[in-house]
Amino acid sequence: MKTKKRGTLFVLSGPSGVGKGTLRARALKDIEGLTYSVSCTTRPPRPGDREGVDYRFVSEEEFTRMIEKGLFLEYARVHGGPRYGTLREDVERELDAGQDVLLEIDVQGARQIRAIVPDAVMIFLLPPSDEELERRLRERGTETEAELSARMASARQELKEARTYDRVLVNDDLDKASAALRTMIMDFREGRSQR
Ligand code: ADP
Ligand code: 5GP
Repeated sequence: MKTKKRGTLFVLSGPSGVGKGTLRARALKDIEGLTYSVSCTTRPPRPGDREGVDYRFVSEEEFTRMIEKGLFLEYARVHGGPRYGTLREDVERELDAGQDVLLEIDVQGARQIRAIVPDAVMIFLLPPSDEELERRLRERGTETEAELSARMASARQELKEARTYDRVLVNDDLDKASAALRTMIMDFREGRSQR
């Protein structure tokens, strides 16, 4: 019997506001057969957030219980606020079924994945400049002024980690970055590119 090839785990990470969520949404629309693992979070839903689609919204207590049960492949407290985690079972099930899986996670989570899934393809998203990163965060308008400064300070540290990733992608023009991400994923998938 022919056994199905195990899928590849792709990790998209980078500083807050660089465009991870935007590029992830495009990748899922553009790339057939790419699945996304819906994360758990302790942050409250924002207007428009859909339970089970954007996140699984859980309480701090529930999140702690899930950690104790070993349900997370990785988890982190992001920007000193809410916790976020990737469900191990969801990812394993899809990879076992031969599906490629995309995770869009912060750099602490990405570090954990690199250590436990050595064949994951790690992609770091870079802003064209610090100024543009700040402009995007401001434009998104989801952070207070204090949160914005904290995220910019974290970003300066996080950007130093870019060189430890398999691929780096600059999110300057959205259409170009989105096409480049698609090419990157397709090249791995079809064996034209190796880590
Ligand atoms: P992240 O998920 O990394 O925090 P988002 O995807 O929320 O970032 O993007 C942050 C903001 O920047 C959003 O308002 C988004 O619309 C905008 N954005 C994303 N990519 C680009 C781009 N290439 N050019 C200009 N604005 C962008
Ligand atoms: P937001 O609350 O704006 O949707 O996401 C905040 C940050 O949490 C983003 O940087 C996002 O990539 C990250 N994030 C989302 N899901 C996960 C996850 O499961 N694990 C980790 N480590 N980070 C996550």
